[in-house]
Amino acid sequence: MVISSTRATTASPPERLAVLGRGPIPAGEPVLRADDLGVLRGDGLFETMHLREGRPWLRDQHLARLASAAAAVELDLPPTDTLVELLDTVQAGWPAEVEGALRLVCTRGPGTGETPTVYATLSAVAASSRASRRTGISVATLPLGVPATSRIELDWLPAGIKSTSYAVNSAAHRWARRAGVDDVLWVSSDGYALEGPTSNVVWLTGDTLCTVPAATTGILPGVTVAWLLEHAAEVGLTAAERMVTPAELHAADAVWFSSSVRGLTELHTLDGVRRDASSRTPELQKLLGFTR
Ligand code: PLP
Repeated sequence: MVISSTRATTASPPERLAVLGRGPIPAGEPVLRADDLGVLRGDGLFETMHLREGRPWLRDQHLARLASAAAAVELDLPPTDTLVELLDTVQAGWPAEVEGALRLVCTRGPGTGETPTVYATLSAVAASSRASRRTGISVATLPLGVPATSRIELDWLPAGIKSTSYAVNSAAHRWARRAGVDDVLWVSSDGYALEGPTSNVVWLTGDTLCTVPAATTGILPGVTVAWLLEHAAEVGLTAAERMVTPAELHAADAVWFSSSVRGLTELHTLDGVRRDASSRTPELQKLLGFTR
């Protein structure tokens, strides 16, 4: 079996850690109480940002998504200023030339969950993530088992939130590993491609750069893809949100996965079918400010 080196689960260990109420502490120090609901129930939220030139890119968009997710799951977040201060603490003095993955975690906290546990970690972006911007990735479709719009129709189910309950996402990545591919693309039971376990899907059809609508499917509204589509005109492209089938993706001019830390990586293979590299890839990565 081929174990790929560019799979999305690859992560560097945190090099820095700061905990709300405690400040910066050594990265190996314990942070959570044994009864923290983030551990017992996966009851928490997180955001991962790209640290470039020592600053988190699109920080306010990430904090806005966190705030709306917190409202959806009735989690009392500390004020935004406090979260910004925590991020500033963990990133202070980080070398400008080292790309970082900055993670902010807010669990419901210990015991009865009255006081959230909030901490931030910072690590260098894994070499394999940076390499995949140059090499591209192989992706296989994987059934999600539900119709594309079924989750958003359930008014009790918070959709499009970055919950720490990533058991399903992790299972999908383990499947990818066993299947010898770098990543997977979930497909609904009615045949639509939705998202990857840690990425949005982006494709080019003619001069139109497309992604899947989060509002009608309940997928994560990606900060990276939103920025990319907002700035598509700068490289002569129009932007659109569309539903798409795997067959339509095979016919597209280019297909990418987007996410905050890995950036934009092109699918060089989809379901075993090799694709030509797009000349647009370096241009779009440059637009997004990711080095190859
Ligand atoms: N979809 C899922 C399920 C994700 O977990 C992620 C990021 O981790 C994304 C999409 C991409 O979102 P963003 O660009 O905000 O990192």
